[in-house]
Amino acid sequence: MSKIGKILPVALKTLFTKPSTEAYPYVKKLVEDDFRGKLEFNCDVCIGCNICTRVCPAKAITIEKVEGEEKKFKAIVHLDRCIYCAQCVDSCPKKALKTTQAFELAGFETGNMTVEV
Ligand code: SF4
Ligand code: SF4
Repeated sequence: MSKIGKILPVALKTLFTKPSTEAYPYVKKLVEDDFRGKLEFNCDVCIGCNICTRVCPAKAITIEKVEGEEKKFKAIVHLDRCIYCAQCVDSCPKKALKTTQAFELAGFETGNMTVEV
């Protein structure tokens, strides 16, 4: 059989089958419930113990005091350094950190990748 004879049936068949690739980003990609995406921080329960910063293998998170507030803290995350291991989440004694399903975190400048979460 010629090459065309071999290719043609396969080509015709693929015209009527569902593509095996995904249409992302045109179709929103769904991730698992326990996906380790961008961190979320609950400032109401954080006690500023800094365990999260000590266990972070990428030095990607810092906890800072909120100016003018005695016991209020904010979490700063370097999205370009974070390896989304969730070590900080697992180690937080107050469950002030959690992972989310947000994964579209790319940026063009490293200066813009440091965010308060
Ligand atoms: S997820 Fe991992 S890398 Fe990212 S801030 Fe937490 S401990 Fe650090
Ligand atoms: S480990 Fe938890 S409670 Fe301690 S500073 Fe980090 S986020 Fe706050």
